[in-house]
Amino acid sequence: MPAHSEDDEDKPCRACSDFKTWAKSQNKVTFTSPTKQPKPRPKDCPLDKDEIGTSTWAFLHSMASYYPKKPTKKQSEDMARFFNIFAQFYPCEPCALDFQADIKQHPPRTENQDTLAKWLCERHNTVNIKLGKPVFDCTRVHERWRDGWVDGSCD
Ligand SMILES: Cc1cc2nc3c(=O)[nH]c(=O)nc-3n(C[C@H](O)[C@H](O)[C@H](O)COP(=O)(O)OP(=O)(O)OC[C@H]3O[C@@H](n4cnc5c(N)ncnc54)[C@H](O)[C@@H]3O)c2cc1C
Repeated sequence: MPAHSEDDEDKPCRACSDFKTWAKSQNKVTFTSPTKQPKPRPKDCPLDKDEIGTSTWAFLHSMASYYPKKPTKKQSEDMARFFNIFAQFYPCEPCALDFQADIKQHPPRTENQDTLAKWLCERHNTVNIKLGKPVFDCTRVHERWRDGWVDGSCD
């Protein structure tokens, strides 16, 4: 079960929807008439589901790509524990529930850097498929999150 507070149950969940949907549920105006241009938002607003998602994936994939190549037994156990705890506290509750179910079926592969990065890439692809987004080529996960693309475009 997720660790979300019962006090929050009646409040619309900003972390569980994209900003437009959330604003609509609050009867807030997100577009200026008549040009239908999005209303500019300050940079220091709470994150919506997609913003939290992208920031979280950036952290998780970077962590996996910098995880030790030869972790100690303790590091390997701690990393597995980290993902199980992370899944309980992820702020988008429906996302967290699906992620908990997914990692129950596919437990964290913390043997070394490559197994962890590939495992996480596959978990992200499970979410991508659910959302109808393109599947990422997991053979390139370290290029994306640690080394930069082989064509040198990030150098
Ligand atoms: C644990 C978790 C569960 C989530 N569950 C849901 C959910 O149930 N419903 C929902 O609507 N949203 C969910 N999200 C958010 C969702 O995954 C996206 O973050 C959000 O939709 C924004 O997508 P995006 O297109 O900006 O790119 P993101 O999916 O955020 O990806 C960011 C970048 O990661 C790279 N990338 C893409 N796929 C992979 C991969 N497989 N491996 C490595 N790198 C990759 C790409 O360069 C991409 O630009 C979840 C996020 C997390 C962290």
